[in-house]
Amino acid sequence: MRKDLVKENGIIFDIKKYAIHDGPGIRTTVFFKGCPLNCRWCQNPEGLAMSAQGIYRKDRCIGCGECVNVCPEGAIALSPSGVITDLSKCVHCGTCAETCPAEARELVGKVVTVDHVVGEIKKDILFYDESGGGVTFSGGEPLMQPDFLLGLLDACGELDIHRTVDTTGYADAELLLKVAERTELFLYDLKHMDSEKHREYTGVPNEQILNNLELLANHGAKINIRIPIIPGINCDDENIDRTGAFVSSLPGVHDINLLTYHSAAQGKYRKLGMEYRLGKVLPPSEDEMEAVSKRLEKFGSQVKIGG
Ligand code: SF4
Ligand code: SF4
Repeated sequence: MRKDLVKENGIIFDIKKYAIHDGPGIRTTVFFKGCPLNCRWCQNPEGLAMSAQGIYRKDRCIGCGECVNVCPEGAIALSPSGVITDLSKCVHCGTCAETCPAEARELVGKVVTVDHVVGEIKKDILFYDESGGGVTFSGGEPLMQPDFLLGLLDACGELDIHRTVDTTGYADAELLLKVAERTELFLYDLKHMDSEKHREYTGVPNEQILNNLELLANHGAKINIRIPIIPGINCDDENIDRTGAFVSSLPGVHDINLLTYHSAAQGKYRKLGMEYRLGKVLPPSEDEMEAVSKRLEKFGSQVKIGG
């Protein structure tokens, strides 16, 4: 392992223990902050920005003004409708969240070292061994913090822990190959085969994502394709057929997971003060999910509904 990477810092927003939908067996999932895409249906909006973000829960606030007093930047003001934070002044120090007696303020995102994260991952080695599980690096986009990710992958590799990377694929090809040398499984998102539509709904075109997927497959990487199914956006027959044909052209790639869209993340957007831009889209029915699954199976893929 490259010793210089052990002390590498990265910013994460969660470490989830006993995860069972992020790869095989029981896993610890580490959620990186920062993503180059901005999908309208994103279920983890706290992973979009690379910096820490403050959350304010107005319904919990008792109007005591403690946060106003402790903020070193003078970024918070009390108003009749609760507290107002001037984001241009906030430096994300977290003092207000630590002080608030009502837990109305929270800081999402923490800078941590490779050592610290590996210490957390190591605690559950027994569960990984018994269940065929391991660690999953997700986000956000883990490849946006290359040295931090490589350091974690190397450290987990030395402990013989199964490593999975959940990626958008929108990353530098050379970096992706370095990651592939240290990764047992990729969870690789495919959102839309039409580049213009991909750009419309995610903010970026899809050529780099598709090229990188081909590159990884040609290098023999083990890959599970993950497709979020969003009615009215990507589950029409044409897109599903194009997806099925593309996946079937990739050597060694057979597994597809269909992820059912749901709007449960809307509350997170509200708390973060972010706009939910998808609008009113209802989750697909079981029948719709089955129909997409069957259509993809015709291309020879093994399709599973769920993570
Ligand atoms: S995170 Fe720090 S700078 Fe930002 S509002 Fe809270 S106390 Fe002020
Ligand atoms: S410290 Fe917490 S409860 Fe008090 S005013 Fe600030 S946010 Fe509200």
